[in-house]
Amino acid sequence: MDEKIQKILLVGGNPSDSRYWRDVLAKAAKYQIGGAAFELKLVDYGSIGSKSSADGNYGVVLLDLESPDDAGLGKILIAKKESPGTPIIVFTDVDDQDFASKALQYGAQDYLVKGQFDPKCLIRAMRYAIERQQMIRKLEASRKWERHLVYYDTLTNLPNRSLFYDRLERAIAHARRNGQTVAVLFIDLDEFKRINDALGHSKGDILLQIVSRNLKKCIRESDTIARLGGDEFTVVLENVDQAHDAVRVAKKILERLSGPLSIGGVEVCVTGSIGISLFPSDATDVESLVKYADVAMYYAKGKGKNNYHLFSPSMDIPGHKRLLMAEAMRHAVESDEFVIHYQPQVSLITGTMTGAEALLRWNYPSVGVIPPAEFIPLAEETGIIVRIGKWLLRTVCEQNKAWQKAGLKPIKVAVNLSARQFSSKGLIQNISQTLAATGLEPKFLELEITESCAMQDLEYTVATLQILKEKGVQLAVDDFGTGYSSMGNLKYYPVDVLKIDRAFIKNLPTDRDNAAITTAIIAMAHSLGKRTIAEGVETEAQATFLRSISCDEMQGYHFSRPVSSEAIEKLLQEKTNLTNSEILKYPVINKADWR
Ligand code: C2E
Ligand code: MG
Ligand code: MG
Repeated sequence: MDEKIQKILLVGGNPSDSRYWRDVLAKAAKYQIGGAAFELKLVDYGSIGSKSSADGNYGVVLLDLESPDDAGLGKILIAKKESPGTPIIVFTDVDDQDFASKALQYGAQDYLVKGQFDPKCLIRAMRYAIERQQMIRKLEASRKWERHLVYYDTLTNLPNRSLFYDRLERAIAHARRNGQTVAVLFIDLDEFKRINDALGHSKGDILLQIVSRNLKKCIRESDTIARLGGDEFTVVLENVDQAHDAVRVAKKILERLSGPLSIGGVEVCVTGSIGISLFPSDATDVESLVKYADVAMYYAKGKGKNNYHLFSPSMDIPGHKRLLMAEAMRHAVESDEFVIHYQPQVSLITGTMTGAEALLRWNYPSVGVIPPAEFIPLAEETGIIVRIGKWLLRTVCEQNKAWQKAGLKPIKVAVNLSARQFSSKGLIQNISQTLAATGLEPKFLELEITESCAMQDLEYTVATLQILKEKGVQLAVDDFGTGYSSMGNLKYYPVDVLKIDRAFIKNLPTDRDNAAITTAIIAMAHSLGKRTIAEGVETEAQATFLRSISCDEMQGYHFSRPVSSEAIEKLLQEKTNLTNSEILKYPVINKADWR
């Protein structure tokens, strides 16, 4: 027990009994309760419910019921009401088991019969009662805290996303019944990331706490302000008088936010951008209201920050979709939503599978499989590609090593590097570490960069490719022929392979221009000592022609679409090749003829 002195309230009717109790408790005093002294207050029944007995924080109430009857049970109820949460120990003159269990049902913690217990026994009963009560209180407090954590943001103590949605749902239901308007404000701090990075995260947290307190001051007690996460806050304004009420609050918030704040002696200025949507004029469901307020907020930001904007249906929802997608993509790696497919590459000379290209797909929940063309550019723009790329590289190297360990024919697997990945810091280190960690020999990894990516900074490209080449990794120029790079630069790129873009393979061999271009690319590649892979080979006629002009390898639907890792395993196991195909009957022009 933590209290120094336990206060005990003894409620008894009979003055002679009071003397008895004093006696018992005087004897008990020397045992003390868990090391704590106790202080006894004696009152008679008449004073239950009066101020004198209700004035104090009692550790336990000893209630002398005298006789085991209904009047006694009534006294328990009164005592319970008067000292809620305080344990009650009752006493009677008679040992009556039925009555004892009734007394416990009525809320007594213990039942003792006068004359049948010694002071030690009384102390023990009191101690148990008090300890049990303290435990219950602690339990209740921890449950309350758990409930708090479910609905409140721990940093700011504001309602969190789930409580916000709950409150908005209720506000809408109420407004629907009463024909009222509800406004949703979506607030995002401007440049918070920059401030956070400059101040450090702990000061960034303090800033969010100060901002939360300030925001709270701008709304009525009955309105809700919540933190959705990061620097995003939302407000539900109930019973507003159309847009101008919401605009008034938005202006008030902007004004309050824009004042300088002092954080650990550093003065910072924060501003915010606010989007507003209204029920029922903009939308009648929770999701849309929040989405529209968010869209409007982006418009406000676009207007130059420290601004508010009301939602209007003409706003660009697809643009908003991109934002949602970017947000979802941030969690997609951890949520295992990315899947890698592999497209076989086959030798046009031997007909056997020589490699595979790893191609990413995003299994976006509730939408389905999204092809890379739809999300790679966004992943590039937001920089998320670097994280995705690291995961992909690791997974591909592990997979390739696993195929080798399973005794399958070793193949190289190609990984696409986007411009952002190629120029990202730590690229070379990441590749070396991944190869070392997975135990894959560098020659079984091929990196593909596009021509346009290679051209961005020739010096950097050549230096980086050189280092990678020295590490033994294979290098390829992807979509070759579409990047308008100067052919002259090609001699500087220490690459092994040119992948001829699908655009030139299309309609071969009938398209004479394409046939001439492809033939020239292959000749040039060979004369520079590089191999060629034709992309997008869909027909036997294309393959036959490519073989006839000495293209080294091909990749395309004619042999296989991009497939799962299991399917690749099967192709390797069954040694599937082009041997049976007609194309191998055609002669290959000697490469030496092109040099
Ligand atoms: P890419 O690197 O040129 O990959 C070849 C694309 O052509 C793949 O499209 C493939 O499915 C498709 N393709 C293959 N054979 C044929 C065919 O016979 N006919 C036709 N019509 N198409 C064929 P996919 O998988 O949609 O990928 C598109 C692009 O997305 C890739 O072009 C690549 O630039 C990019 N990409 C894919 N995965 C990744 C990745 O992991 N990282 C990065 N940075 N980019 C990736
Ligand atoms: Mg590629
Ligand atoms: Mg390509």
